[in-house]
Amino acid sequence: MISRFSRAFLVITFALFLLGSLMLLHPPSRTYLDPWTGDLFGEGGVEKDLHTFPASAAEGMHGNVIMPKLGNATAKAELGRATWKLLHTMTLRYPEEPTDDERAALNSYFHLLSRLYPCGECAAEFQQLLQKYPPQTSSRRSAATWLCAVHNKVNERLGKPEFDCANLDATYDCGCGDEPVSTAKTPSNGPMDLEADLSKDRVTGVGMIKGGR
Ligand SMILES: Cc1cc2nc3c(=O)[nH]c(=O)nc-3n(C[C@H](O)[C@H](O)[C@H](O)COP(=O)(O)OP(=O)(O)OC[C@H]3O[C@@H](n4cnc5c(N)ncnc54)[C@H](O)[C@@H]3O)c2cc1C
Repeated sequence: MISRFSRAFLVITFALFLLGSLMLLHPPSRTYLDPWTGDLFGEGGVEKDLHTFPASAAEGMHGNVIMPKLGNATAKAELGRATWKLLHTMTLRYPEEPTDDERAALNSYFHLLSRLYPCGECAAEFQQLLQKYPPQTSSRRSAATWLCAVHNKVNERLGKPEFDCANLDATYDCGCGDEPVSTAKTPSNGPMDLEADLSKDRVTGVGMIKGGR
């Protein structure tokens, strides 16, 4: 015959065991970082195996368009303008003499964009353009001129005027300068940087709005 205290103890222990088992079965709680190997395990939004995905750099580059149709014409145009700005600025800052790795990166970028561009119907058209005119990546000039020509193909299809690619440099002069990333100075901007002019944005020079009191 067991005492009331022992019975209560056993019931509580069993309940805790049951609760623990249920928690382990729930996907997110099966996610943990192995302190020895650094491996990340689990489910529920966390990669099951970070070491095997993606299996190769090229995986995911080719395939169908991912996003649905973008019905809103205003959103489509705004997205288009912003994206062209990004792409042209990117090719105009691309290395003059890229390495094989840099060339592969640019090539992958355009192919991934043609799958993931948020306007599905635009992405489908862009995929066809890439098939007909594969990205030129051998130099800054070739990449920038290629993109200009492809943009002109889109312009033509949409009934927009042709852009003169001789004006690329003037149109996309971002004023960024060509300082190598490795030697770029880290901005101080700390509380003790008494010379910093906090009334203006450090990069753009635009006046800042004062918050608080
Ligand atoms: C990859 C991609 C595919 C798209 N496909 C579609 C589509 O299928 N259907 C659709 O409705 N819209 C599509 N768009 C959006 C469309 O191209 C325009 O961005 C949008 O219609 C707004 O046009 P816009 O007249 O303001 O000038 P944009 O074409 O957006 O150009 C912005 C600015 O870039 C400059 N520019 C123009 N042509 C060139 C060029 N050849 N080279 C360099 N600079 C140039 C001009 O200064 C122009 O004002 C696509 C956009 C992208 C990025």
